Amino acid sequence: MQETNQKLTGFAAEIRNIAGWAWALAAIGFLGMQYVFNVVVAHQPDAPPAWARPLMGLSVGLLVAFYMLMIGYVNRDFKLVARWAWILAAIGFLSMQFVFNVVIARQPDAPPAWARVLLGLLVGLILTCYLLLIGYVNRDSGRRGMSRVLWTTVSVLVPNGLGIILYFILRQPVIGNCPQCGHAVQHGFNFCPQCNCKLNPSCPQCQRMVSPQDAYCPYCGTSLPDPAVRSGVPQIEVRH
Ligand SMILES: [Zn+2]
Ligand SMILES: [Zn+2]
Repeated sequence: MQETNQKLTGFAAEIRNIAGWAWALAAIGFLGMQYVFNVVVAHQPDAPPAWARPLMGLSVGLLVAFYMLMIGYVNRDFKLVARWAWILAAIGFLSMQFVFNVVIARQPDAPPAWARVLLGLLVGLILTCYLLLIGYVNRDSGRRGMSRVLWTTVSVLVPNGLGIILYFILRQPVIGNCPQCGHAVQHGFNFCPQCNCKLNPSCPQCQRMVSPQDAYCPYCGTSLPDPAVRSGVPQIEVRH
């Protein structure tokens, strides 16, 4: 894919990156939570008071929708998520089921069974999304030339997913990849620092970058190979 430098920036452009299915899932998740808290939970003999149910439905629904949208935003890049993050996410989900359905169930003042199952699934799901997003930030920051340690730490330590949101707001554009070896290369590099692959057309005499339309080097006047030869230079692949 050829890079266009006029990339849309800002919040509106970022929102457009969210996949359609994620909006659908977020809406289903949100509405589902309203149903669960206002209908399913309301029918339980020991349901929370009527005023609390819509409030719980709204807050949990928003939380679920938020994480669905984040997952949809990452969408195409999800294969970046580190393997350890998938493993941690699975362990996190399963341990939440254990905590809510076994550990808490043994407490004398345990919440009723329906609440434990619901809480276990919800907390497990949110924890899973949270860990996967941290695994994503860990890798994604690297290919954007940002500090992986710093941003992984920020995502883990800043509560309520705010560290992850901060990362998405502040992250740098993706660095291109060398078409030959895949090494991350910054825009404007003439050669790949890893394998010396030629990334931009350059003057054979003085090695400075030239435009593909130039017939002569603007720096030293050397006659440049014809455009057919110059267009043979592989373009930097940029993943968005
Ligand atoms: Zn290379
Ligand atoms: Zn030159």
